[in-house]
Formats: sequence, C-alpha cells, structure tokens
Amino acid sequence: MEFRFSPEQEQFRMEVRDFLEREVPESWKALGYGVWEETDESWAITTAWNRKLGEKGWLSLTWPKEHGGQERPYFDQLILDEEMARIGTPSGIESAITIGWVCPTIMAFGSEAQKNLILPRASKGELYFCLGYSEPDAGSDLAAVQTTAVEDGDDFVVNGQKVWTTIGHRADYCWLVARTDLDAPKHKGLSMFIVDMKTPGIKVRPLINILGFHSFNEVFFDNVRISKENLVGKQNMGWYQLAMALDYERSGVGTPAAIRRMVNDLVQFCKKNKRNGTLLSEDPVIRTKLAKIAVDAEILRLMCYRVSSIQTKGNVPNYEASLTKVFASELLDRMANVGLDILGPFGQLDRGSKLAPFNGGFVRSFLQSPSMGVGGGTSEIQRNIIAMRGLGLPRQS
Ligand SMILES: Cc1cc2nc3c(=O)[nH]c(=O)nc-3n(C[C@H](O)[C@H](O)[C@H](O)COP(=O)(O)OP(=O)(O)OC[C@H]3O[C@@H](n4cnc5c(N)ncnc54)[C@H](O)[C@@H]3O)c2cc1C
Repeated sequence: MEFRFSPEQEQFRMEVRDFLEREVPESWKALGYGVWEETDESWAITTAWNRKLGEKGWLSLTWPKEHGGQERPYFDQLILDEEMARIGTPSGIESAITIGWVCPTIMAFGSEAQKNLILPRASKGELYFCLGYSEPDAGSDLAAVQTTAVEDGDDFVVNGQKVWTTIGHRADYCWLVARTDLDAPKHKGLSMFIVDMKTPGIKVRPLINILGFHSFNEVFFDNVRISKENLVGKQNMGWYQLAMALDYERSGVGTPAAIRRMVNDLVQFCKKNKRNGTLLSEDPVIRTKLAKIAVDAEILRLMCYRVSSIQTKGNVPNYEASLTKVFASELLDRMANVGLDILGPFGQLDRGSKLAPFNGGFVRSFLQSPSMGVGGGTSEIQRNIIAMRGLGLPRQS
C-alpha cells in the first residue's frame, strides 16, 4: 500500500495551484466558505469560471478521449477538487450535477446523438442539467414517482410535478425520471429522459431555502411533448440508470479539503483571540474539539481516496459512496457547530456585517449543513444501503 501521490500527480497539483493563484480573484477568497448568494451575478461568475476550467479541459479531466476528455485517472480529479475547495472557488453544484453525475450516465447508456448533443458542450461549461427526481410523494422512495411519460406517435407526453429541483430555473436540460409503464412493479416501469427546459408546458416555480436564497424549485410538466429520441437507454429500465447516477452523486471528494480550510482558519483565530484573558488556543475544551474534527477530516480524506481508487479502476462506487456521503454530511454539521461554539455570539453574524468572522462562513455552513444529509438521499437511506450492500444484511420490506 502506497499513500503518496506520484511525482506526476504532485506536478499536476502544482500546476493546479499556480492556475488557481493566478485566476482566482482575491475578492472570491475573501468571501470565505459557506454558500454564496444565488443571484444572477453569482451564476454569471460561476458559469464563467466553469468555462475557464472547460477551456483547459479540466471539467472533463477523467472522461474518455472520444468524448472530449483527457482520460486522466480519478486521482487527478480528486487533486483538482481538493485544490479548488482549499482556495474556495464558486459553488460547483451545477458542474457536479452535469459533469459528475449526468454525463457519465449518458456516456454509459445514451445514444450517439445524445452524446453528441450533450457531451462536447457540457465539457466546455456551456450547458447544465437539473435533476428531475423528487416529487411531493416520492423522495426516499424514489421508485414511487408518479410523473408519467406516455407514448404518442414519435413522442412521449409528460405530465406531473417535480420538487426540490436544484437550479431548475437556470438549467438548460432536465435529467428526468418518469413512469412509462403504469402497470409494471414500481421499479420496473421507469425511464430516463433528457428534456429541454424550454419545451412548452414546463413551468418552474421558486422554493426559497433556509438562507433566503432561491436555489431549488418546483417544476410542473403539463402535456410536455418530447421526442422519443430523448429517451435515454432502454424504456422501463430507467431505475438502473438512475441508480448509477445516484452512486456518482454520493461520491463527492472536495469536502475534506473544505473542512481542513475551516479547521486551519479556526486554529489561526484561536491563536490570536482571547476569552476571559486566556487565548482560545489554550482552552482544553476547544483544543479537543478541533483535534476531533481534524481526525474526522483525515478519515474522510482517506474514504474519498478509496472512492477515487474504485473509480480509477473503472468501477462505480456503491455502498462506499454512501459511507462517504453520510460521514461527510455529518462531519460538515459537526464542523459548523464547533465553529459557532468557538466564535461565540459574533459567529452568528452574516456577510454584510463588518464584525462577522470569516464573512459569516460558519453561520452559513451551520444553516446549510442539515440539508447535506437530505439531498442525494438522506443519511437514513445511506445507512440502509450500507447495511444491505456493505454488510449483507437483509433488505427491509
Ligand atoms: C439541498 C437539497 C437539494 C436537493 N436537490 C434535489 C434535486 O436537484 N432534484 C431532486 O429531484 N431532488 C432534490 N432534493 C430532494 C432530495 O433528494 C429529497 O429531499 C430526499 O431524497 C428525501 O426525500 P423527501 O424530502 O421526500 O423525504 P422523505 O423521503 O419523505 O423522508 C422523510 C424522513 O423519513 C426518513 N425515511 C424515509 N424512508 C426511510 C426508510 N426506508 N428508512 C429509514 N428512514 C426513512 C428519511 O430519512 C427522512 O428523515 C434536494 C434536497 C435538498 C435538501
């Protein structure tokens, strides 16, 4: 077992660092961590950044060359993600959805026409997907979706409602799961579609999150007519394609670097600030809390390396991705809590206040972190997957 990166990988890390030092403006670094406001301006910044990565071929680093990628090992992607999280580049959810989760599934199951339509532009940061999975009565039990796609000549006609659709108001396409066989058992009657969000009959209504930002939406489909060419893979086999996209979704690798950055900032803060005449860095309770988080961040880093090594071998991470997701989301929660404990009442001030430590990064993380254990499948669902697929325990009815 060798835990060191190769000289080529270290060289790539240096190349990434140089690029980020040159290209990431000081104003972004000063924003700190925690989510950015979701405005037209932040979307413009984020998408411009993605196009810059796309020009370098860094959005599609691991993709096969035939799809415009560089066929680099997943560890290079991990290095890129680590470095971007370390310095704090714009959000990334839009490219995670499109590049990380949907496009690999299109590569595996899509037609040549679909690959040609989507992959070249996605790899340049020129188009984005939203995920049309959840519905008012289908979340954890995703196979219960009731949105229907009924065949009519050369088309399918889609009717139904999706909910919690992140960037539904920005995306060019929806990666949609809909029921195509109303009589089949629920896992067997589903199909996946690529749907242009400008198709007549689609209505997007905003949902405002706990931070007051418009990040997700309700999406209504009212007799939306889509060509049969937009069906991805085999009709009624959508559940298996969906499962692959979900496995990719749960395997994010940037979190440990983001947490290390937060820990490092808190360490510096504790070395400079006193409470009741004593430096915070000398307080044994605070030292213990920080050390515990540092241990967990290191564990998560190794879990993420394992996921990357599974992907490097050409496999799709399965329960291993669930392990990483549940650990990462709960660690982010602990991290935000430790941050607010250490910062005291000032920690609750948000961006816009001159007195807000780290530009309100910790209070934003505190408000955002519970949602990390819900999006992409709740922590309870991840634990069920770990129990079943990782430990071989029987499926619960
Ligand atoms: C930030 C964020 C972004 C999201 N983005 C998207 C998106 O882009 N597209 C999209 O389609 N959806 C999105 N979602 C929705 C997300 O996938 C669902 O919220 C999630 O799958 C849970 O479904 P639900 O909300 O219907 O809760 P429910 O499924 O109703 O669950 C309620 C509670 O019951 C528990 N529970 C349910 N079933 C079981 C079980 N079998 N065993 C144990 N416990 C169980 C759950 O863990 C949860 O605590 C997003 C959610 C969040 C928070």
